[in-house]
Amino acid sequence: MADPRGFLKVTERETAKRRPIEVRIKDWKEVYEPTDPAVLKNQAGRCMDCGIAFCHQGCPLGNLIPEWNDLTWRQDGKSAIERLHATNNFPEFTGKLCPAPCESSCVLGINQPAVTIKEIEASIIEQAFDKGWVQAHAPERMTGKTVAIVGSGPAGLAAAQQLTRAGHTVAVYERDQQIGGLLRYGIPDFKMEKHHIDRRLEQMEAEGTRFRTGVNIGTDITWDDLFRRYEAVLVATGAPKPRDLKIEGRELKGVHFAMDYLTQANWTVAGQEVADQIVASGKKVVILGGGDTGADCLGTATRQGAVSVTTLAIGNQPPAERSENQPWPTFPNLFEIASAHEEFGERKYLANTVRFLGSDGQVTGIEIAETEFVDGRRVPRPGTETVIEADLVLLALGFTGPETAIAVDSQSLETDEKANLARDQKYATNVDGVFVAGDAGRGASLIVWAIAEGRAAAAAIDEYLEGSTSLPAPVKPSDIGIHA
Ligand SMILES: Cc1cc2nc3c(=O)[nH]c(=O)nc-3n(C[C@H](O)[C@H](O)[C@H](O)COP(=O)(O)OP(=O)(O)OC[C@H]3O[C@@H](n4cnc5c(N)ncnc54)[C@H](O)[C@@H]3O)c2cc1C
Ligand code: SF4
Repeated sequence: MADPRGFLKVTERETAKRRPIEVRIKDWKEVYEPTDPAVLKNQAGRCMDCGIAFCHQGCPLGNLIPEWNDLTWRQDGKSAIERLHATNNFPEFTGKLCPAPCESSCVLGINQPAVTIKEIEASIIEQAFDKGWVQAHAPERMTGKTVAIVGSGPAGLAAAQQLTRAGHTVAVYERDQQIGGLLRYGIPDFKMEKHHIDRRLEQMEAEGTRFRTGVNIGTDITWDDLFRRYEAVLVATGAPKPRDLKIEGRELKGVHFAMDYLTQANWTVAGQEVADQIVASGKKVVILGGGDTGADCLGTATRQGAVSVTTLAIGNQPPAERSENQPWPTFPNLFEIASAHEEFGERKYLANTVRFLGSDGQVTGIEIAETEFVDGRRVPRPGTETVIEADLVLLALGFTGPETAIAVDSQSLETDEKANLARDQKYATNVDGVFVAGDAGRGASLIVWAIAEGRAAAAAIDEYLEGSTSLPAPVKPSDIGIHA
């Protein structure tokens, strides 16, 4: 344990500062400033190295949090990154983007603010890249076995790195023009700039992973052909089907799925031309859905110069503090002020969308009513209708699951009761040699779960090909996240 009295000496939780609002909304760069190393040392010193470290249970990757808190406090960054990479292929993604269920289960959090675990994680990997400690680990021997991974999001990438290092010949197929999945085209740069993905891909290429972009499996290459060319296939295609709202006026121009909007915005930030781009500049924007995707739309619309942005959530405003039915160490649903909320816009709760209003085929507004709960259903309360003006409406209502039209050797991949691709406890589908990991099998979730599943599926594939494996398997498909 670093400093036995650390948590008594430093009782304040000090987190990274956000850049001034008036500066950051004029660019697409990350909102957070790097944290001062002296602050990080103090914060790491607050870790109590508990006998039972509940943060391990909170982290789907089983990150060795007390160990690298201790090493950070001792300013031994090289050992810290070794311990962090032992369980997490991409701490730069989770360190910036994870909602940190580990912090909700930090024992210090019972009567003090939790240790700033996520920021310590981010700082360890940033220092490691800066100092040149992140090197390629090419395999010592090749097995001669081949694996195709379809989908280059965090699940596919984590599996690819594990299997390449185990000596298999791995090719990652991606239908987009660039590698990264939602990290690249879903998550805006103000949350994570894309050079973080590029430098990790350089390492993976140096290790021997092959990347094939612009190849849509099922169209450009059939699933059967792919399966014939490789000894194992991992389906890591995500869960991109958006939830729709089929109410009056849905067909009006100006009503779009959030992901169509965000993807185009990310392309343009990356310097690509987009014909007829959906943009918020000069518009009154309404976002349906109060979750993370909605917040990403808000931050994007703010930077594009929207006149107004209103975010509508159908349910109650979450509480500021843990409620009794979400006690420590669970991951509570709390009212959050994301950086995007701090910058601009209005949030309305208990807002039930009744219909979209339009003129000449273009959306002009939304009729909403107060939500009332009838037999557990959320319905509009009659007589409470009001209208909000809108000329761009973004549907950020979540995702209904993966694209499932996948057939191999005349057998369709089976789905489970939630319409995700079905797999057993070893990530195997109903077709021998075909595996599934990440959102495609779990449903829309989190980066940390995608990495954990990618690692575990890699272990299952290695065992399938070699008869045994020494790769770690942090999670099973049946492990239920506190957060999705
Ligand atoms: C807007 C948004 C913001 C988010 N923000 C966060 C966040 O801040 N923190 C967090 O933890 N999680 C966040 N998430 C969730 C997180 O991004 C996902 O859980 C995670 O990316 C899932 O990883 P994956 O590898 O399973 O799939 P994905 O990242 O979805 O990648 C799947 C890839 O497969 C490719 N593909 C699909 N079909 C084919 C095919 N037939 N052939 C070839 N390629 C194919 C797709 O093009 C895609 O690149 C966010 C999600 C969204 C939508
Ligand atoms: S990956 Fe997420 S849950 Fe795990 S230690 Fe990092 S921030 Fe915490």
